[in-house]
Amino acid sequence: MSTQPLIGISGCLTGSAVRFDGGHKRAGFAMDELAEWVTFKPVCPEMAIGLPVPRPALRLTQLSEGEIRMRFSHEPHEDVTQKMADFSDAYLPSVSKLSGFIVCAKSPSCGMERVRLYDEKGNRGHKEGTGLFTAALLAKYPWLPVEEDGRLHDPVLRENFVERVFALHQLNTLRASGLTRGALIDFHSRYKLQLLAHHQAGYREIGPFVATLHEWEDLDAFFVAYREKLMAILKQPASRKNNTNVLMHIQGYFREQLNARQRGELREVILNYGEGRLPILAPLTLLKHYLAEYPDRYLLTQNYFNPYPDDLGLRIAVN
Ligand code: SF4
Repeated sequence: MSTQPLIGISGCLTGSAVRFDGGHKRAGFAMDELAEWVTFKPVCPEMAIGLPVPRPALRLTQLSEGEIRMRFSHEPHEDVTQKMADFSDAYLPSVSKLSGFIVCAKSPSCGMERVRLYDEKGNRGHKEGTGLFTAALLAKYPWLPVEEDGRLHDPVLRENFVERVFALHQLNTLRASGLTRGALIDFHSRYKLQLLAHHQAGYREIGPFVATLHEWEDLDAFFVAYREKLMAILKQPASRKNNTNVLMHIQGYFREQLNARQRGELREVILNYGEGRLPILAPLTLLKHYLAEYPDRYLLTQNYFNPYPDDLGLRIAVN
């Protein structure tokens, strides 16, 4: 397996001129920042069903009984719904190793949400559709991190997407290297603090589930269920409150080694973060410093400290 996460991407976001109008929609974050850390697998579903560049625009039409079809906006409004469904059915099984997907917003093929719907007479309706290819992608791989290019401008959504991509990549790598009970327990143990930062109730639920591992004869079936639970927890963005709890918890590990002044300083930095006066990078840097000084076997395993490459600079921007 590649050592870099493999990420699907709408072809036009890579800068390829595959759009209906002969243009592209190059996504700066993906191509200029993320590209160093991941391997992209581009696809243009509309070209894949044999459409040329340029081509008439497509749109989603909602029939009176609710069914959604993809048709050309110009006469004779040829319907390509079945072609797109056939392509999705053929293509999606070949990308089961992906760790994420970045799709192009608003497109009737690739948009993830709020794609414009039209009625049968061609009147503009609400923006509440999903592109047909992306709808099939989401249905086949509900645990897969999928984001739109536009939403990745939001620092919280961007950080959450990248974090999930690297988590799924580690899960995929774990499966590819051969599942054992020990490896699965180790994996879960490494994610404990990270899960706690995302969703306390989810963290409390997944622990007892992992404790049933010895009852599962089929480790791959366990993996599939575990992946769904873990990815659902990570999809909840880590809140400042939860992060503060986790940082306070980590602080406790240095109770013996730090003097009263150092403990007070550390507590102050964590509280200042909790109240929004400092970014999370401040307490994390201090804790990493103490961890290097006073190594703790459990803390050193925790993915929480490095959920993705530091050089992406994502923790500077969030929280
Ligand atoms: S949005 Fe999707 S279908 Fe449209 S040009 Fe981009 S990759 Fe192709």
